[in-house]
Amino acid sequence: AASRLAGKVILITGASSGIGEATAFEYANAAKGEIKLALSARRFEKLEDLKEKLISQWPNIKVHIASLDVSNVAKLTEYVESLPEEFKAVDVLVNNAGKALGVDKVGQILQEDIDGMFQTNVIGLISLTQLILPGMKARNRGDIIQLGSIAGRDPYPGGGIYCATKAAVRSFSHSLRKELIDTKIRVIEIDPGAVQTEFSVVRYKGSKESASKVYEGAEPLNALDIAELIVFASTRRENTVVAETLVFPTNQA
Ligand code: NDP
Repeated sequence: AASRLAGKVILITGASSGIGEATAFEYANAAKGEIKLALSARRFEKLEDLKEKLISQWPNIKVHIASLDVSNVAKLTEYVESLPEEFKAVDVLVNNAGKALGVDKVGQILQEDIDGMFQTNVIGLISLTQLILPGMKARNRGDIIQLGSIAGRDPYPGGGIYCATKAAVRSFSHSLRKELIDTKIRVIEIDPGAVQTEFSVVRYKGSKESASKVYEGAEPLNALDIAELIVFASTRRENTVVAETLVFPTNQA
């Protein structure tokens, strides 16, 4: 894996916690620090801490951090344009930023939550892909890794909007993969089941008590389980694409 990653530029959204943060560490680890990471999220202080930790462990690593809200298309454009020269040729785009907001039934869902989920999980992901793709096409290489979810395949009551956003992500991924069939660009869809991160805290709008109940009696995956899968997918040999994976805790139905 190290030789397939050496010197590559990996751009990860939502890198301030959970799967995004673990993925940054896992790329660094797999490449033994010989890698360039462009990390973004809205909470800049968290990214500052992450950068410090990465550099203290791998002194040669190159890390660029930026405060970025992917739901704002103008800011996304600004972000991509402002990337320093050595981070501009993105080899791997990890479209990870995403969230569920609330557990309300249709008819009670706040409009701002509907907008927030679609803007972040769908519009942000599509817009960033649009901004990064021309460079990948020009170089005829690159991996686009999309964080979908089991929610996009097996919708449940109280998750109407989140499930719909993840179904949209999966549909977009497969369409794009087929569109790029004559190129060396790979589109990789990763659909996890339950992973214990800040995800449930966000979903329950800050209630740590409600969030922890989600995992009671279960053994969820952790962020590193997904990070390992992402790095695995992007280190396959050139003729192999992990087009999609569904990954569950062993005891999840
Ligand atoms: P976390 O809540 O731990 O991480 C989500 C990340 O997304 C944070 O870094 C957050 O950073 C960032 N983010 C949220 N909104 C925005 C925004 N508007 N702009 C930029 N960044 C944003 O959850 P996970 O790590 O679990 O989630 C990562 C992905 O995995 C998501 O797409 C999620 O839907 C998906 N997933 C998660 C599952 C789970 O059970 N945990 C299961 C299946 C899929 P900040 O707040 O600093 O902006």
